[in-house]
Amino acid sequence: MSAATAFLVIGGGPAGGAAAAAAAAGGVGVTLVEAEVVGGASQLRDCIPSKALVASANGLAGIRASGHLGSTEPGPLRPDPARLAERRHSIASLLSESLRGRLESLGVILLAGRARFLGPHTAVVAGADGAEQEVEFAHALIAAGSVPRVPAWAEPDGERVLTSRQAYRLGEAPEHAVIVGAGATGVEFAHILSSLGSRVTVLASRGRVLPQADPEASAVLEEEFSERGVVVMRGARARGLRKSEGVIEVAAEDGRTAAGSHVLLAVGLQPAIAGLGLEAAGVEVCDGAVVVDARQQTSVPHISAAGDVTGGLMLSSVGAAAGTVVGRRVAGLPVEPVDSSRAAQAVYTEPEIAWVGLQEAEAAAIGRRVKVTRAPFAANPRALMAARPRGFVKLISDPTSGVLLGGLVVGRQATELVGIVALAVQAGLRRGILADTLLAYPSLAETLAAAAR
Ligand SMILES: Cc1cc2nc3c(=O)[nH]c(=O)nc-3n(C[C@H](O)[C@H](O)[C@H](O)COP(=O)(O)OP(=O)(O)OC[C@H]3O[C@@H](n4cnc5c(N)ncnc54)[C@H](O)[C@@H]3O)c2cc1C
Repeated sequence: MSAATAFLVIGGGPAGGAAAAAAAAGGVGVTLVEAEVVGGASQLRDCIPSKALVASANGLAGIRASGHLGSTEPGPLRPDPARLAERRHSIASLLSESLRGRLESLGVILLAGRARFLGPHTAVVAGADGAEQEVEFAHALIAAGSVPRVPAWAEPDGERVLTSRQAYRLGEAPEHAVIVGAGATGVEFAHILSSLGSRVTVLASRGRVLPQADPEASAVLEEEFSERGVVVMRGARARGLRKSEGVIEVAAEDGRTAAGSHVLLAVGLQPAIAGLGLEAAGVEVCDGAVVVDARQQTSVPHISAAGDVTGGLMLSSVGAAAGTVVGRRVAGLPVEPVDSSRAAQAVYTEPEIAWVGLQEAEAAAIGRRVKVTRAPFAANPRALMAARPRGFVKLISDPTSGVLLGGLVVGRQATELVGIVALAVQAGLRRGILADTLLAYPSLAETLAAAAR
């Protein structure tokens, strides 16, 4: 059987979903092929389940700490793995159904199956039952996402050695998790598992956790980790793994070792380009990622790519913005290239860490003169009331015009507060405008205004 479509979208994650919605809203006939779940890995295995677990972990930690808020100490509390899993699934299903409903209401045809290019205008979709359907297309989008990177020395078994996407298979919180990698995924799992009661050791290949973040942010998180007994092995680049009865030992290049009951590999993602038939379509790949220009066009102009499959900053928000560019372009609407340097980045630990735009170290590295202003949460009434005064706000602005260029928030609800800074940076506002904004009292946002003064 064969079909024809104006716009074939391969992958229904944030990039593919946004592209399909934008094109369909612009009157284009769209067919979206998804091999697993509409909503993508973002909803099934990455952002949503991990943040649902963070919410559960924070809830548990909050009750345990309620003595600080004036209650009597609660009795022993244990996480319930079945209920945690049920909660994650129900949130992911709700979001997936909501996206499916939106796409269907826009007239998008949804095909379940795995797509592969046969040529520059033809793809084949293989369903789970093995049936194949050819689809002719005028335009196509590759939005196939990414897969966890696996170091050459490790073989995930999905039970005791796990990738970030297999971590949800764990029934109970592991007795002792050794986490390889101290980027956002590694530290978020360190936060989740330590809150759920696991002992945790983190191998950080560089000199600190979150090497991509401001060093002061890393220092605050390491302080918190140290207080809750999470061991961070700095400068420990893992190079091997040995399994024996009940214990797995990870060896670092410098000879140090870390032993635990489970190992979680959190060493990043790589574009999922295997099996897409990119050669048959003539689409160029470089360093394992689909090559695109500023308007997301590949080397074959009527075939675009967006999201993790193009490498770069792998975030749902960036993927969705790139997908929207493609959908609008296919619909003949004007588009602006995505500026990922303006994307807010967030790490959902306790305290949370979030930043946007130019950072202090980056400005120093490129020799740009900036004004750095800051304020701590230690003097913020709302942070004190919540017994969470750890953290600070740092703002980066132009020393002459006062225009905000970037900001960093470390503290309670940093991932929400950074939105205000992102808006100010996006709108090119001066620091003084933030300083003079009449905010609610008491509120965490007041520390943003204090940092702007
Ligand atoms: C643990 C973890 C936590 C994360 N948390 C966050 C976060 O909090 N915030 C954030 O912004 N980002 C987060 N990310 C990153 C985020 O998940 C990705 O950037 C995002 O999912 C990329 O969206 P995408 O549309 O490119 O791909 P995906 O969401 O991966 O979707 C791609 C889809 O394509 C489908 N597909 C693949 N090949 C084919 C094919 N041949 N045919 C049909 N369908 C196919 C897949 O089944 C998948 O559903 C996290 C990542 C991880 C690993």
